[in-house]
Parts: sequence; structure tokens; C-alpha cells
Amino acid sequence: MKRVPTGRGDWIVLLGTADGLANPKRNHAALLARLDGKTILLDAGQPCSQTLKRLGIGLDELDGIVITHTHTDHVGGLPMLLQSAWLEGRQRALPIWLPPQAIRPLRIWLRACYLFSSRLGFVVRWLPIRGPIRIGTVRICAIRNSHLDETRARFGKRYPDVGYDAFSLVVESRHSRFAYSSDIGAVADLEPLCRKPLGLLITELAHIEAGELGEFLRTRPIGRVVLTHVGRGQRGRVPGAIRAHDGDIIDLRYHKRIVPA
Ligand SMILES: [Zn+2]
Repeated sequence: MKRVPTGRGDWIVLLGTADGLANPKRNHAALLARLDGKTILLDAGQPCSQTLKRLGIGLDELDGIVITHTHTDHVGGLPMLLQSAWLEGRQRALPIWLPPQAIRPLRIWLRACYLFSSRLGFVVRWLPIRGPIRIGTVRICAIRNSHLDETRARFGKRYPDVGYDAFSLVVESRHSRFAYSSDIGAVADLEPLCRKPLGLLITELAHIEAGELGEFLRTRPIGRVVLTHVGRGQRGRVPGAIRAHDGDIIDLRYHKRIVPA
């Protein structure tokens, strides 16, 4: 894996592009963005802390983490990341935004890992996703999607204490605007992300069909479409879209892959 660019400018790295199943060549969902000088992790699928190290990114550099939903492949790397930050001596606070009802059970999980808040040496700010997220001059709009609606319908009554909210993100910096669908439930979930022109759309392709996605994208004002979380059963093509690989770095000013996998 190549090291990330050292100069100024906005870019993202796809740390993990797998489809929810263990895969020898793909890590689980995580994406690192460097925007307006801020370093932001979107989702924390394992082994994100190790992958950041391979890229030459220190855990102390993280200015914030946003978890779109708490399926294991999107949050499984978080305890190890917090443990690593503690052992490396991080001191500054770390804000983590996530679906509101997920905060309590996630903190219980961390206690089971002996990652007590008084032990970490830095403050974790647990912030429920409610309205726009601001990290410096970066603005992240979290839009609820239907990814977990079916799970809520099946299990919500029996397990009411966990959240069933899942979010897609529109991320705006001074010079770029991109969207990350994370996991969705239907192509219609992309509609609110694409109302204004996007330089880049990173969308999953596991819970939707390629043909339907291609049709949806045909008339949308999007500079570049990158497919991640592509289900292994997907056979269809999405015209004009490129498939993501772990370690891909995308320059957001030009929306092009600057380090081919
Ligand atoms: Zn999911």
C-alpha cells in the first residue's frame, strides 16, 4: 500500500472495500478523508488501525470518526483503534459520531474490552448523529437511509434497545463535495445525496442491482462514480463507474485515482 500524499489538497483513501464477508484481498468498510487539513475516518471496519499505519497515518492525526451504522463490518475495527491510540499515548479528545441508540451498547462493548474511559488517557466524545456534523471547515450531512428498515421490522420489537438507523453522508469542504452511500436499502436512498452536483459518489453495490443503479445515475450531475462493497454475486456493469480497490487514493479536486491498485 502506498503512502498518502504529503502536500495540501483534499483526497480520500479507500481503506476497505469488502462486501461484508471475510475476504483475503479486501478489508472491511472504512474510508479516510483529508479535507481542509482535517483527517476524518468514515466507518471503522477492521483492520482500519493497521491499514492507517501502513499508509503512514498516525492515530493521533485523526480529528474525528463518523460511523454510519453498526454492522460489524463498519464498526468492528473501532475497539482496536481506540486501544492503539491509548497505547500510543494520544491525549487530545476524539469525537465519534454515530447513530444515537448505538452509543450505549457500544460503550458496554468497550468496557468488556477493558477500554474504560478513565483508562484511555484521552476523552472520547460520543456524539449522536442529529443534524450536520462540523469538523473545522468540513461539513458532513448525514442522511438517514433504509438499510436497516428490514432488520428493524423483523427484530425491532424483540430487541428495541439497539438502534436501527443507518446513514449516508454528503461531505463538503472548501474545494470539494462528495457523497458516501455506505450501505443502503434501495437505489432511492441515493436520491437525496444527488440533489446538488457531486464531484464524486462512492456507492455500495451489494444491496442494490447494477442495472437499476446505472439507470438512476444516467441523468445525475455526478463527476465520478466509484463502486465499493460490491457484492460477490454482482454480475452487471454500471456504465462509467470504476470499481474501488483497497488502498485506492482519490484526489478530490480532479476526482481521479492517483494511485492505481
Ligand atoms: Zn450494513
